[in-house]
Amino acid sequence: MKKKPAVVPEKATAAVKGASPVRTVAAKPPTGESRTALVRRARRINRELAEVYPYAHPELDFDNSFQLLVATVLSAQTTDLRVNQTTPALFAKYPTPEDLAVADPEEVEEILRPCGFFRAKTRSVMGLSKALVENHGGEVPGRLDDLVKLPGVGRKTAFVVLGNAFGRPGITVDTHFQRLVRRWQWTGQTDPDKIEAEISALFPKGDWTDLSHHVIWHGRRICHARKPACGACPIAPLCPAYGEGETDPEKAKKLLKYEKGGFPGQRLNPPQSYLDAGGKAAPPLGAG
Ligand code: SF4
Repeated sequence: MKKKPAVVPEKATAAVKGASPVRTVAAKPPTGESRTALVRRARRINRELAEVYPYAHPELDFDNSFQLLVATVLSAQTTDLRVNQTTPALFAKYPTPEDLAVADPEEVEEILRPCGFFRAKTRSVMGLSKALVENHGGEVPGRLDDLVKLPGVGRKTAFVVLGNAFGRPGITVDTHFQRLVRRWQWTGQTDPDKIEAEISALFPKGDWTDLSHHVIWHGRRICHARKPACGACPIAPLCPAYGEGETDPEKAKKLLKYEKGGFPGQRLNPPQSYLDAGGKAAPPLGAG
């Protein structure tokens, strides 16, 4: 009997409850402020973040939509850095969906071992490659409805691919996004689909993809889950949660990550804008 492809859960991601995009919902602001005030405040934070991270980009290395789709599926339950260190060997050996669809699973598992859940992830990426070959002529579809039907692909993965490989706006509600928008009291929701719907309604559609990058970058570098670096946070004057983390400037500075702390980033091949701003490329697998 043909085995059903196992699906590795996405990182704190939106559940797939249907193929259609979540409708934007103009919910009541959790703070009791007027809706106009909330919209203004949210957009101001996004504008400030755009200045803090003018080089923000997807932190997965990819050359085409197929690579981005596979890398995003592999990023469940691990870091983008680990995926970026793993995919060069995978794409060198299997550059197309056709190649990966007929690969020897044991060989793929061996390559994917550093990503964790490597057996399930092998089934997912081979399963989605087969589906691309059989149903989409070996191309990644540019529609949400088709993407979420691929094995191992949820709304979050679909929006990453649509936003960054097809230029179609989407909000990526990952674990950082959920935490930060609640700290900023942009929403009181905890369900990823509802968060997506409410935050979508605060911003013009054209801002959605960059907004996702800004928020996720801030969560990874400064506004950490356990100890946010409030004392070194450029948007502290705008933040209702200031003081939830370290407020001493010197101690807070030591909590900063990636380029904000003077460390390498997650991409082995970051965009030039990142390098120009003093960012450093990540080391290859085994080098650090
Ligand atoms: S002030 Fe603190 S809680 Fe607010 S965004 Fe900055 S790091 Fe996060």
